[in-house]
Amino acid sequence: MGIYNLSDNTKLAKNVYLSINKEFIWPSLDNDYYDENGSCYALKQHIGILVDGTIVPCCLDSKGDINLGNILEDNLDDIINSPRYQQMIEGFKCSKKIEMLCKKCPIKSGIKNTDSV
Ligand code: SF4
Repeated sequence: MGIYNLSDNTKLAKNVYLSINKEFIWPSLDNDYYDENGSCYALKQHIGILVDGTIVPCCLDSKGDINLGNILEDNLDDIINSPRYQQMIEGFKCSKKIEMLCKKCPIKSGIKNTDSV
């Protein structure tokens, strides 16, 4: 098999398969990328909790740029019902990204539970 014949899911060896994906660009406030449009399953399907208890909308916000509260100090129901949390969800419903980190996140339709990152 020549290298130019390789395609996604090509079997390389027993139990070893090739996975071809586009380069993943981590969301960052420093990114040049900017788009206010897009949706995401964050907050609707999942949240992230950093080691210090900071609640973030997704596993990509590893620095806690979107700090929604702290699980060690705040009631989760209060966080979910907070204006910031609800504005993000309502924005995603209309394909509008509210938070700056989301606008600098190249994921167009957000992370589903089945997406690999
Ligand atoms: S748009 Fe990107 S940064 Fe924002 S919540 Fe979704 S995955 Fe996270």
